Amino acid sequence: MIDLPIYSPVEEISNPLFSSKGVQLFIKRDDMIHPFISGNKWRKLKYILLEAKKLHKKHLVTFGGAHSNHLIATACAAAKFGFKSTGIVRGEKVENETLLLCSLFGMQLIFEDRESYRDKPALFKRQFGNDQEAFFIDEGGSGSLAATGCSELLDEHTEAYDHLFCAAGTGTTAAGILSGINRKSIATKMHVVPVLKGADFMKQEIDKLSNGASFEFHSGYHFGGYAKTSDELLNFIKDFTSSTGILIDPVYTGKLVFAIYDLISKDYFARGSRILAVHTGGITGILGMADRFKF
Ligand SMILES: *Cc1c(COP(=O)(O)O)cnc(C)c1O
Repeated sequence: MIDLPIYSPVEEISNPLFSSKGVQLFIKRDDMIHPFISGNKWRKLKYILLEAKKLHKKHLVTFGGAHSNHLIATACAAAKFGFKSTGIVRGEKVENETLLLCSLFGMQLIFEDRESYRDKPALFKRQFGNDQEAFFIDEGGSGSLAATGCSELLDEHTEAYDHLFCAAGTGTTAAGILSGINRKSIATKMHVVPVLKGADFMKQEIDKLSNGASFEFHSGYHFGGYAKTSDELLNFIKDFTSSTGILIDPVYTGKLVFAIYDLISKDYFARGSRILAVHTGGITGILGMADRFKF
């Protein structure tokens, strides 16, 4: 059976800043769903894997950069649910912690130069066109099946939140959660924090997948671009993690939580606001960034 029990409690974070501003911050611990099929990656993969199974596919083929959380999640899910897996990795051959985990989960790795990597359907056809059991999963598991999985997040709660925040790479997760908010017609305001520069394309993607529901887009927290960091961000992550026991990473959730703290300190929220941040997991990404932290 393709399923995971969802264990994703909501935890309140306390901080003198929050009491002085009269707000409450809660974190939805999707990172606890599974150590490797973590956070939004399980939600995104669920219906894709069910579709693969329905079509009697036995071999998952997917794509990602050399530090991709999606590759680890797909490799682990394939191992757990009885699929073979291949990861097509962007760029020249490298070895790192992410790819080591993928290999341990039995994923076959193929490295492709950036030029041919761009056209993923063509790559799939060229490599696996004759393999009837092969199943194409887009980079990051994006698309409407992935968004449907993410829309279920809201069904796990009865408490009300005024604001819900989520980090975005492609925007699929945010779009799915936004659809969930809409479907339930609750008054929670959705906020998206893109982790890369020039993320305007994401707005259209979210509009498309969520039928144009309204949301706030906080594009000033990318710290120079995807996987770019600064001492300010890394110090923030250290302070947050050492005072809460919750790991956040410099690529996604670190930028998300930084944005929320910054907005709180700038009086963005009305007094009495209840804010929910979704921890989308992916903390294995920290392993590849050890050299950035100075202790
Ligand atoms: C992949 C990932 C995201 C981005 O999700 P999208 O659906 O592409 O926006 C966010 N957070 C973490 C931790 C991730 O691994």
